[in-house]
Amino acid sequence: MTVKVTAKAAELRARGVDVISFGAGEPDFDTPVHIKEAAKRALDAGATKYTAVEGTPALRKAVAVWFAKAHGFDVSPDQVMVSAGAKQVIYNAMHALLDPGDEVILPAPCWVSYAEIAKLAGAEPVPVLSRPRDGFELDVDAIARAITKSTRMIVLASPSNPTGAVFGEDAVRAVAQLAVKHDLWLLTDDIYRSLCYDGARFVQPASLIPGLRQRTVIVDGVSKSYAMTGWRIGFCLAPAQVIEGMATLQGQSTTNAASVSQAAALAAIQGPDDELEVMRRAFDQRRRFMVRALRAIPGVTCVEPRGAFYAFPDVSAFVGKRTPGGAIIRDDPGLCTYLIEEAKVAVVPGAAFFAPGFIRLSYATSQDNIEKGLTRLAQALGKLT
Ligand code: PLP
Repeated sequence: MTVKVTAKAAELRARGVDVISFGAGEPDFDTPVHIKEAAKRALDAGATKYTAVEGTPALRKAVAVWFAKAHGFDVSPDQVMVSAGAKQVIYNAMHALLDPGDEVILPAPCWVSYAEIAKLAGAEPVPVLSRPRDGFELDVDAIARAITKSTRMIVLASPSNPTGAVFGEDAVRAVAQLAVKHDLWLLTDDIYRSLCYDGARFVQPASLIPGLRQRTVIVDGVSKSYAMTGWRIGFCLAPAQVIEGMATLQGQSTTNAASVSQAAALAAIQGPDDELEVMRRAFDQRRRFMVRALRAIPGVTCVEPRGAFYAFPDVSAFVGKRTPGGAIIRDDPGLCTYLIEEAKVAVVPGAAFFAPGFIRLSYATSQDNIEKGLTRLAQALGKLT
């Protein structure tokens, strides 16, 4: 569904139509200059060859230090691995840990790839929906009820794509305790952890419960926080045995992540953090503007997102309405099609995240685009009867 909207936006743009896209899952900022410069130097110094499957020793060591600093526990480099993006980490982890028939609990709304990757590993995704009236906080009771004899893993992703929810310490602790009680793996996708706003605080469950690290795979990387999506570097922190399994798998797929990108990632995590903060503040300003503008549209409600760079408004009030051309809006994908045709605004349907009746808008785009796009969106919604 995401691809359909993106393809339509690209097609219109190619025809010279001024399309505003809120579809992007990546920062609009460029990679900080000092990181690009480090990559150029690394190329000249010979970063053009294979590296160890698990990553260069220098990067693994630096990632171990980085994880230790972030979460307050000891990390050794053999508990760390580097892959081509957080997505490959998740792919490796699910394929290394899941068997056909295993169930994976996905607190939802959530990123679609968890379900699709679980299916590729032969496992069954079990989405467990949280509620807008709870600010999309984890529904611990519903998660507990979803656990069966076949459950093998729970995926926690905070801040959340698409809702922007940052899960609270009590809920995170309760889900971690469920993982211990039922002997489950916990996969935490921390890719947005440095993008929190309004005083929201990211909580890593393994820092709450001693011993939890034995059953936790922590996914992280540089894509979102350092504006490095195209470099394709993700990190994993997991028990050494799991890393071994993942390395065996990656050794027969992509081998190592690109060596020049590993050098860039090393510069990123060892370098100054000031630009991260500049980007975070810019996202925060746009977030406030976007949420205010969305809430001002009659019929739209929007939970306050407190992390990542997405707003996830409820637009179910428009489903069933009629367009000026007389067509009926049947569902959120139908609404997205209408919005791109009528307003030339691209948004992603909530159905792509197990949340029909919602749409996802990324505010990782300029303030200008946000202002113009939301004006158009409001006008188009106002034409539905
Ligand atoms: N996890 C979440 C929640 C994401 O939204 C994304 C990208 O959209 C990823 C992981 C993938 O990150 P990477 O680009 O490092 O593979």
